[in-house]
Amino acid sequence: MCILRLTRKLLFCDRSDLTTVDKMRDYTNSLKGLPPHTIYKEVVVIGNGPSGLALSYLLDGNLPYYNGNSHPDEMLLARLKSIPASRSLVHQDLEYLSQGLEGRANNPVSLLMDALCHPCADQGIDLPSLIDWRYEPDQRIDHVVLGKGLPGGAWQTMDSNVLTISLNTWMELPGLTWFEWESKFRGVANPNARRVSVAEVAAYYSDYLRINNISRHFRSGVVVTAVHQLDGKSLEGVADELRSVQWNVEGFDLSTGESFSYICQKIVLATGSTDLPNRLSVPGERNYPDWVFHDLVSFEHAIDVLAKENPDIHEGVRSVDPVVIIGAGLSAADAVLSARFRSLPVVHIFRRPGITPDRMLPENMYPEYHKVHQMMTDRSGGYPDYTAYPEHKVVGISSFNERKIQLTSPDGQEIVHKVSLIAILIGSRPDLSYLPPEFQDGEKLGVIPDQPIDCRANPLSIDPWSHSLRCSPLGMYAVGPISGDNFVRFLIGGVLAVVHDIHRQKKLLECT
Ligand SMILES: Cc1cc2nc3c(=O)[nH]c(=O)nc-3n(C[C@H](O)[C@H](O)[C@H](O)COP(=O)(O)OP(=O)(O)OC[C@H]3O[C@@H](n4cnc5c(N)ncnc54)[C@H](O)[C@@H]3O)c2cc1C
Repeated sequence: MCILRLTRKLLFCDRSDLTTVDKMRDYTNSLKGLPPHTIYKEVVVIGNGPSGLALSYLLDGNLPYYNGNSHPDEMLLARLKSIPASRSLVHQDLEYLSQGLEGRANNPVSLLMDALCHPCADQGIDLPSLIDWRYEPDQRIDHVVLGKGLPGGAWQTMDSNVLTISLNTWMELPGLTWFEWESKFRGVANPNARRVSVAEVAAYYSDYLRINNISRHFRSGVVVTAVHQLDGKSLEGVADELRSVQWNVEGFDLSTGESFSYICQKIVLATGSTDLPNRLSVPGERNYPDWVFHDLVSFEHAIDVLAKENPDIHEGVRSVDPVVIIGAGLSAADAVLSARFRSLPVVHIFRRPGITPDRMLPENMYPEYHKVHQMMTDRSGGYPDYTAYPEHKVVGISSFNERKIQLTSPDGQEIVHKVSLIAILIGSRPDLSYLPPEFQDGEKLGVIPDQPIDCRANPLSIDPWSHSLRCSPLGMYAVGPISGDNFVRFLIGGVLAVVHDIHRQKKLLECT
């Protein structure tokens, strides 16, 4: 207990506090092999998307309580009624509460929090949340959230005009309902749950920090390049005081180039799934970055320019070479819609025989994706200036005299198309290159060992009750898509599991 207090006294500071910073320098300089000015935090969160935001809210002392509301699942309700109401879920038995829950997530605590925050959401029933959030300053945990871009993560880099797949209420994070945000902070009075634009979601996440007073925990515009486990050598001499410090996190500031270093007890990986676009791995794919794109935003900029350069394509006066879109997911569908909106001819290549971009999406809510599905499966030529190549394979991209793409049909025929632009939108995967070398490629970390991490097919293998990584030493957790929670409404449960475990371990340490 007294060791812990000493550690906190020496290290519970950041660099804005000059007197403590001086102590910090002396102290951290005595850690062998660590850069000067290393900062101590109890928890370092890598990634400032919705997962990082929600984590910071809970780590800042905002805890969830069952508020006594009813739930149609009688078994869940009975379990909720049987737990002490005066204790937050952070201090409850999550395994007991999550028993028998089923839904569209794989992680049990994710199902639990979703059932409590959005009861029966998938049945289309709109019921009040069973959770109240209470601020408890004595439950705060010192932490920093590091992120490459603006807080909000992937939502700050996606095409701002695209509509969400989820309803707005499913995009909300703990402690700020969408309607409260819209009515109090945007002057909008529309209480209907509906799809909203990416721009609105990004604005909600930006405001979330300020409204919940957690901005001070965020360090944005920085890239984490390495995470090391501290060994006995670096801790020699100060090991007693720092016995619970496990990790060193290093990186640099994108605007100044300055490096930074943190030491911490726990690390939470919240780096999402969108940093590395999947590639076709065909010749020429990487050679023409000015007309071959792997993300929707760059492609949209390029088609804007192309449409402006060819103002008379609307009247069909002048012809341009088609834009080629590769992929059958929602981003590829968005690209098709954008190109068609600008009257550009489209060649659409996809591996599947022509299924809907997402079979789960009901037509009345997602008419635009069903339109693209119709186009992909139409064999009558009913869509002028749109040509689908189902089950075709791209074999090369070249630009000798003209920009060209080569493909092969299912029966082996070779087809060559002149093109103006190409968008390769075939998904993305997480960039875990900052992990220790022994974890590189994530091959030891996945649910399926020795396979690269993929958020849908092979997320990080975690303990379901704590979200700690199974294959790493204690003190490393994962939340969000990298732990298999691919939608915002589910990642809240992962966040609860992590904070639950951090509080549990803190208590254990205090008792020793
Ligand atoms: C096109 C698209 C549409 C989607 N639509 C929906 C939807 O309608 N509803 C829904 O619920 N979900 C949707 N999702 C999924 C949703 O984006 C994710 O569930 C959510 O953003 C995950 O949040 P996160 O914080 O875990 O990760 P992210 O939002 O990806 O944020 C992680 C952040 O960490 C940063 N980072 C990564 N590595 C480092 C590093 N080394 N150093 C510093 N920072 C780093 C990343 O750059 C990123 O900004 C959609 C995803 C995509 C791609």
